[in-house]
Amino acid sequence: MADTTQLVVLGAGPGGYAAAFYAADLGMQVALVDEEKNPGGVCLYRGCIPSKALLHVAKVIDEAKHAGNWGVTFSEPTVDVDKLRGFKQGVVDKLTAGVGGIAKMRKVRFVQGRATLTGPRSMSVAGPGGTTELQFEHLILATGSHPTKTPTLSLDSPRMMDSTSGLELPDVPKSLLVIGGGYIGLELGTVYATLGSKVSVVEMTPGLLPGADRDLVQVLEKRLKGLFAAIMVNTKVVKVAEDGTGIRVTFAGEVSENEQVFDRVLVAVGRRPNSKIPGLETTNVKVAANGFIETDEQRRTAEPNVFAIGDVAGEPMLAHKASHEARVAVDVIAGHKAVFEPQAIPAVVFTDPEIAWCGMTEAQAQSSGIEFEVAKFPWGALSRAITVDRPDGLTKLILEKKTGRVLGVGIAGSGAGELIAEGVLAIEMGATAEDLKLVIHPHPTLSESLMESAEVFFGQSTHVFKPRRK
Ligand code: FAD
Repeated sequence: MADTTQLVVLGAGPGGYAAAFYAADLGMQVALVDEEKNPGGVCLYRGCIPSKALLHVAKVIDEAKHAGNWGVTFSEPTVDVDKLRGFKQGVVDKLTAGVGGIAKMRKVRFVQGRATLTGPRSMSVAGPGGTTELQFEHLILATGSHPTKTPTLSLDSPRMMDSTSGLELPDVPKSLLVIGGGYIGLELGTVYATLGSKVSVVEMTPGLLPGADRDLVQVLEKRLKGLFAAIMVNTKVVKVAEDGTGIRVTFAGEVSENEQVFDRVLVAVGRRPNSKIPGLETTNVKVAANGFIETDEQRRTAEPNVFAIGDVAGEPMLAHKASHEARVAVDVIAGHKAVFEPQAIPAVVFTDPEIAWCGMTEAQAQSSGIEFEVAKFPWGALSRAITVDRPDGLTKLILEKKTGRVLGVGIAGSGAGELIAEGVLAIEMGATAEDLKLVIHPHPTLSESLMESAEVFFGQSTHVFKPRRK
């Protein structure tokens, strides 16, 4: 006998569990299905959370080293990899058990197992305790994504890692090649390099972090050049092969040595949506050529009672995008008027320094045809950055020339990820440079860089002498 539920959410990542919890808050009867023991998805188990726990440790190690400049010397750190792994796992366990507990409190029925759709209103879930048949009025697909696999880089060797196995921290290899200069590769590269690996990064496009403005990336690149053994851009890996002592990698592009051997290789070349959901063909849900499930602005698929959110429903593949889409889909199911039309989705690269941006990048503003100006405030003039000895930063506003409306915000610097929320709020509220200038920011804080960038727009920044050209 199949159980009938008002809403089933398939996939319990930050999209899925946010949807299930909100639907329960609105009084719906909800089941949440995932293969894992608890909700959390990629973000909590093998993404955002474990990577940030390890990056925190990396930052502490780096700051301890840096303290020599302030007259405080610590001895060289010794890294107990088992204990470090245990710390990271503890963070993951605490958070996933926490959301599992919240699911219970909200009376969301959590069904563990692998789901196969048997039609647009039914699925069977094969779990550890047997098979559960579910019937439902509405379905939200939140099945997420997985690391991209490419034939050239597919080598069956324990020395080859993707982001999932990289986060398991099997050891600290002497040398590591990170393939892919996107945020995942750079974050994991930072962790391994700080723990002691000789890390090289290879990126096939002309620069790291394609998509981010170059002036922001330059701030990071300067520091990464000291941390990484090599950064190779405009370079492709054409072959990987087991070599007894390591992985022999063949490069093509702007590189001095075409072949090099590394102890380990971490492949971080992007992610693919999990749209090959078993039984999806029993519904009218359509999958686009790029692998994402097609939805409208309410996140409804071509099957009227089925919605899709998160990584499986399109870029940007970020946890906060997934959880906001979740609320839209649930509101629509509840009969509320809602569409997903954010003006700004923040992106944060949690390296050191961090890079964060939202709204239009400068490159996007250039191709938009909008008349705009860029107002920049260098952190060398920011007192808080100097007190913490991190003047290597930059805050920039992309402003509509005529009105001063904030179109985009970009920040590079230690703590940029926390600061960007103010930029998102400014864009969503239709704020202008004048608004940012007039808002009193606490002193001394890094947030003053947003206010002072706005002052730069008017040629009136207190700490930067840059009169406005007539
Ligand atoms: P997911 O979190 O991918 O969850 C999908 C769930 O669906 C999984 O648990 C899966 O087991 C389940 N599932 C799929 N198919 C089935 C099935 N047939 N039956 C049962 N269960 C199924 N994003 C950020 O915003 N900030 C970050 O700092 C950040 N860091 C990241 C670092 C790394 C290393 C990685 C890999 C990703 C990171 N991300 C980050 C991206 C973020 O993890 C994803 O955008 C986010 O998890 C997407 O959420 P989701 O709900 O769409 O799906």
